[in-house]
Amino acid sequence: MVREWLDCTNLHHLAKEVTLTKPYDFGEKNITKDGIQVIRISEGCPNQCPYCAEPSKIKWFGVPEITSNKVRLVDMNLLCKQQALETIKEFGEKLVNDKVIYYELTCGIDFRFFNYEFAKALKNSRFKRIRIAWDFGFEHQYKVSDAIKLLEKVGYRPNDIMVFMIANWRVSYEVCKEKMDLCKVWNVKIGDCYYDNQTFPNVKPIFWDTLHLVDFRRRIRKHNQEVNFKIDPEFKQRSLPPLPKVSGIREEFL
Ligand code: SF4
Repeated sequence: MVREWLDCTNLHHLAKEVTLTKPYDFGEKNITKDGIQVIRISEGCPNQCPYCAEPSKIKWFGVPEITSNKVRLVDMNLLCKQQALETIKEFGEKLVNDKVIYYELTCGIDFRFFNYEFAKALKNSRFKRIRIAWDFGFEHQYKVSDAIKLLEKVGYRPNDIMVFMIANWRVSYEVCKEKMDLCKVWNVKIGDCYYDNQTFPNVKPIFWDTLHLVDFRRRIRKHNQEVNFKIDPEFKQRSLPPLPKVSGIREEFL
């Protein structure tokens, strides 16, 4: 039986409902801090999700001179841009001080524009800590699962992959918990982001309540530890108490 509450399919069609407690970060970017060069080379997204302030108009700013061996791209939806595939391939050929460069796509992959060619290019160009966005409900589970399979096919390990999901919005705590269960099965990590551009611990409840916000955050932390360590690293006891002496059991257990 399909559980009705898992169905969020009407949410895609909502009008934009963004208020934002802090200003939205637009425009071209190129700053270096603590050895990491942070760049934004494009802007705009055709999806216009109701909770997102990214404009619909597509802009291509171009790639600035790369001066660090660690580069973080903060484009909200790089993959939807015409120049994206070629640019990702070109990133892989760049060197700084004769050394290769490692890249990160902070805002994650939009599965609607993702395919094998992109997966291969990201891997070849040394993009690390790959993120995939899964903000809506279970209607996208196959798409997210397919994207993870493509990433694994080109050599990413499951725990190199993180699924991003929005909390504190209209996709309920219960649905997000079910999504977390599936991420456990896929053995991938979870990144939480919060409606209204908020960041923990300064998140005000909007569609969720404080108890659910805190609980979800705690569960994500635990989930990511378990995916990383394959055990619960906070529970370190290895040995078990001896069994009671009962005749007839194998001697090595006494
Ligand atoms: S959340 Fe991502 S996919 Fe949705 S409108 Fe914003 S940038 Fe586009």
